[in-house]
Amino acid sequence: MPDMRVIGLSKGFRDVLALQDVSLDMNDGEYVSIIGPSGCGKSTLLKCIAGIIKQDSGEIFIGDREVTSLPPEDRQLGYMFQEIALFPHMSVLQNVGYGPRVRGKDRRSSREFVGQIMEMARLAVGSETYPDELSGGASQKAALARAIAAEPELMLLDEPLGALDAHVRAALRYELRRLVKELQLTAIHVTHDQEEAMSISDRLVIMKAGRIVEVGTPLELYLTPKRLFTANFLGEANFFQATVKDCTAYQVTASVNGWTLNFAGSGYASGERVVLAARPESVILTPADRQASQEWIGTVRDRMLLGDCIRMEIGMNNNLTVIAQTPNRGLLGMVDRGETVRIDFSVGSILSYRWPAEGLDAELALE
Ligand code: ADP
Ligand code: MG
Repeated sequence: MPDMRVIGLSKGFRDVLALQDVSLDMNDGEYVSIIGPSGCGKSTLLKCIAGIIKQDSGEIFIGDREVTSLPPEDRQLGYMFQEIALFPHMSVLQNVGYGPRVRGKDRRSSREFVGQIMEMARLAVGSETYPDELSGGASQKAALARAIAAEPELMLLDEPLGALDAHVRAALRYELRRLVKELQLTAIHVTHDQEEAMSISDRLVIMKAGRIVEVGTPLELYLTPKRLFTANFLGEANFFQATVKDCTAYQVTASVNGWTLNFAGSGYASGERVVLAARPESVILTPADRQASQEWIGTVRDRMLLGDCIRMEIGMNNNLTVIAQTPNRGLLGMVDRGETVRIDFSVGSILSYRWPAEGLDAELALE
């Protein structure tokens, strides 16, 4: 299976630049997800790679072949849309066997091959089962099996689980990754679901307004996002506007709405405005102690059950709002609404950013 390379891809529609100078390298056998707000150009990128729409400029390589000007059918790709695209007049097995037949496999080896794919996809259907008899999850698996049976060099998946409800969707995403990995395919998966993307991808590509913002492993992008936009888009974060008071080679002291916060960092100037980010799960709550400092004290305004986690909104005494999330360990030790608490941040969890040149709102904007 091939690596894939896109160099300087741009595509404009009448009044929007859907892709602006997008470059991306993918390794052989890699599972990469592209995520970003609606309208940021994810589908356009996939369609350019597939050859379904023609870019204005840029080059596309699949393996060592340049495919920039090749028609879709000569690119050796599998493409799966959100809308399930099974042929309704063919049985499910005929659907899956379509690719092998078109590619000239004889009847017997084609049937064997389809059997293997169906087994891998854990899809059991009779020879007379038609697409309209399948559940949502099974149709999606069948569509995937059909795309895979065509033995594409590269799988392009545009919201492949989009039409499913949450439970089936969550189960199927692991199956999808397993299948792609077992068959050693290279896959690009477009989704607006960040949890889906994080849980199954080798690397993530974050897009915003036609550009790639950041690329990295899910863990890198979640724990140490280089851009504020990524910290905001991937997972959730508390953002604080702060002013640096002192900065050593490894520690920064900053003022946040009049309160002092120390965190790991370097390279800032005294007086510099910065933006700090803290994930809700890095916020540590303890009962407020009257004797201790009166900074970082607040009141629990709201408490919500997320199932495995408890989410709390804390109104701080300096008018900041902080979102904290703790594992749900049952009623014991659960903090109540109205309780006064002190907050700390777990060691190394504060992310710091220089003030964005285009302004904080523009940097964080999801539109
Ligand atoms: P995404 O898949 O990330 O939601 P798209 O790639 O579909 O985004 O769209 C990117 C931008 O290009 C959007 O502003 C969209 O409205 C625009 N766009 C996409 N396809 C067309 C088209 N065929 N004609 C005009 N504008 C389009
Ligand atoms: Mg799309």
